[in-house]
Amino acid sequence: MAIFQPNNPNFFQPEGNLQQLQIKPAPITIRCPHCRQLGTFSVFGSAAIEYSKNGQIEHRPAMQICSASIRICPNAECFGFVFVVLANGRVVEIEPPELIDFNSENLPLPILATLREAISCHAAGAHRAAAMMVRRLLEEICDLNSAQGSNLHQKLVSLKTTIVLPEALFEAMMELKALGNDAAHIEAKAYDNIGSEEAADSIELAKEILKALYQLQSLLSRLQARKPPSASPS
Ligand SMILES: [Zn+2]
Repeated sequence: MAIFQPNNPNFFQPEGNLQQLQIKPAPITIRCPHCRQLGTFSVFGSAAIEYSKNGQIEHRPAMQICSASIRICPNAECFGFVFVVLANGRVVEIEPPELIDFNSENLPLPILATLREAISCHAAGAHRAAAMMVRRLLEEICDLNSAQGSNLHQKLVSLKTTIVLPEALFEAMMELKALGNDAAHIEAKAYDNIGSEEAADSIELAKEILKALYQLQSLLSRLQARKPPSASPS
C-alpha cells in the first residue's frame, strides 16, 4: 500500500479542514501509559477534532485526514487521560506515550530506576539515550554482584564468575554494552543506527537478564509454596 509522507511530520499541528467531528472515532486498544495495562480506550466526551495534513504519496501531493481526541483508560483504578491522534484510522501519536511493559518485582531499587529511565527515553523517542541507560543497567548489575574490572568489558567477564546465567544472556550483555557504547560515541563501531527497534530490543533483552537474575527464583518459590507440605516428588 502506498504510504503517506507528511511534509511536516508533527501530527500535533493541523494544516487544514479543522472541524469538530460529529461521529466519535472508534475505540482503540493501547497499553495505558499511566497503569501499563492493555485496554480499549474510547473517546471521552463528545468531542473529537478532525483536520488534514499535507504531504505526498509516491512523490505526488496528497492529503491525509486525521482526528485528535482525548481518551480515558478503562481500568477503574486508573481512569488516566491520553491524547490520541489517528491518521487514516491508524494511531500515529499518543501523549503521554505508551511505555514498554515490565515487571518490577524483586528488582533492586537502583536497577528499577534505571530500567524506568530507559523505558521513558524509548517512549519519548530518545533511542540513543535508552541504549545508554541499558548500558548503565549493566554497570549496576556488575556493581551489585561484585564483578571486578577497570572497565565494563572486564567487569562483564568477571561477572561470569560471580553469577550463574545461561550463556546467551552473557552474550546479550556484551551486545548491549556495544550498543550503549555506540550510542554514547560519535564514531560507531558495531551499530550505526540506533532507532526505536534497536532501543526496544535492548530493553527487552535487559528485561530477560533481570528476570533470570532477580525474578525466576521468587516465581519458583511462590509456586513451590503452593504445594501441600505432604506432597512428595513423583
Ligand atoms: Zn490506565
